[in-house]
Amino acid sequence: SHLNQALATSASSYPTSHDQIQKPADTPAFVDNKFVASQAEQWIDLYDPATNNLVTRVPQQTDAEMTAAVDSAQKAFPAWKATSLLHRQQLMFKYVALIRENWDRLAASITLEQGKTFADARGDVLRGLQVAETACGITTQMQGEVLEVAKDMETRSYREPLGVVAAICPFNFPAMIPLWTIPIATITGNTCIIKPSERDPGATMILAELAEKAGFPPGVVNIIHGSAKTVDFILDEPRIKAISFVGSNKAGEYIYQRASANGKRVQANLGAKNHAAVLPDCNKNHALNAIAGAAFGAAGQRCMALSTLVLVGETKDWAPEIAERAKGLKMNGGFEEGTDLGPVISPQAKERIVSLIDSAEKEGATIVLDGRNQKPEKYPDGNWVGPTIIANVTKDMTCYREEIFGPVLVCLNVDTFEEAVDLINSNEYGNGVAVFTSSGATAQRFQKEIEAGQVGINVPIPVPLPMFSFTGNKKSVAGGGANTFYGKPGMMFYTQQKTVTSFWAAADATSTRAGTNMPT
Ligand code: NAD
Repeated sequence: SHLNQALATSASSYPTSHDQIQKPADTPAFVDNKFVASQAEQWIDLYDPATNNLVTRVPQQTDAEMTAAVDSAQKAFPAWKATSLLHRQQLMFKYVALIRENWDRLAASITLEQGKTFADARGDVLRGLQVAETACGITTQMQGEVLEVAKDMETRSYREPLGVVAAICPFNFPAMIPLWTIPIATITGNTCIIKPSERDPGATMILAELAEKAGFPPGVVNIIHGSAKTVDFILDEPRIKAISFVGSNKAGEYIYQRASANGKRVQANLGAKNHAAVLPDCNKNHALNAIAGAAFGAAGQRCMALSTLVLVGETKDWAPEIAERAKGLKMNGGFEEGTDLGPVISPQAKERIVSLIDSAEKEGATIVLDGRNQKPEKYPDGNWVGPTIIANVTKDMTCYREEIFGPVLVCLNVDTFEEAVDLINSNEYGNGVAVFTSSGATAQRFQKEIEAGQVGINVPIPVPLPMFSFTGNKKSVAGGGANTFYGKPGMMFYTQQKTVTSFWAAADATSTRAGTNMPT
């Protein structure tokens, strides 16, 4: 079989521990509702981050294979567009039910390939599932407008699908982020090509299989694989009308420019450096728990991880107490009971994170908690970095300027609320931010003055649920954030407006002279 174990067809048959991978099989593509083995010459090895055992090989697909996926999506589009919205809604209800049934199987694939804990992987699936659930309510969002604009004349507006659309996904949310695209793009009548991260495509493969089971016709959901070469193919393929990208600034800025130059619509969510301002009047116990959880959960590999603390006034002494809470977190293989954080994605990621901690030490910061040489006994070969807290950080230090994307919390000290706001606003990223305070007035002022696009008030990771939209700003989005993901803007991204103006001539229109002036 070309399917790896995480793709086994029964919902109850999936790996539940790291050592169940006996015979790695290659990851197939998914085209025309079928899994297809690739004839690729180049393959990308995918290792379990907890053990570094080979899990599968992901193809760098050939141009001919990728073209076949676009052919399939293009061929499926006219009939899919012509189905009624209520029909597509019925399929989405089935898709939602199937994702729920396969929840654990999806989560297991994520734990195996991405490394996050099984409980956290279930959350990854849930957040994507909620997008699909919300998409079921599309019928009221898709309504157009109508106005009688003159005597016997009216204008109506409609929202129509774009055609074939594509998503280029990051490694850190293998189910949630493909599900920012699949439900909204398809229910609005588009067909789609998903390129999962080459580091953990398993969950997307299961999502494709479930789309077929739900009754999506061949060609509506297709999966292609690879890295930069596949991305270039997507950017340059004229039949792909829109691109949804989530990932790093390096890839995203390039993708935004090249896709835009090729006339495509782009939505692109990029990197982050999320700050929290901690004020002396906050509920200290809540703040310490929230900060430790949000800094180290998912080993810090969330775009909304709380990675930077701005300790205001007397809270500057709180770093050791946060370290105490962090020490209580258990680092282990993601399938093990009671694990709080798993490994980071790759040996290269570990090396990068460790070198950023080293740089902080060299540049004069204080390492309050050092995770550099930690590893769980049972998994000595994984990519481990334990929770790390760096205090007395200043704005010029490398560990402050770069997104670390690991379980590392950097702490800066300021004296006043105003200084905290200035410091946070001077950062070039604008994804998420939090404030911890018991004062409604302070929270209100923070909310108004702060520039980041997603604000948490005593909430460390303020990711909006799918009835809202994901609203990062500044360098955390490309293109000024005009096209945000999911919610109403997500529906608008995947549709274009058509307006129809009609005149039904009155029976007494008898003049034979043509008018040439703009009607006034
Ligand atoms: P990444 O940019 O390395 O990879 C994302 C996708 O881009 C992958 O599919 C990959 O194949 C492709 N890619 C990578 N390098 C490329 C290149 N040079 N040219 C063309 N394509 C390329 O990102 P990642 O490491 O998978 O994910 C982590 C990053 O994603 C972090 O910066 C994180 O903040 C960001 N992220 C942002 C959000 C958000 O909503 N703002 C959400 C999740 C992750």
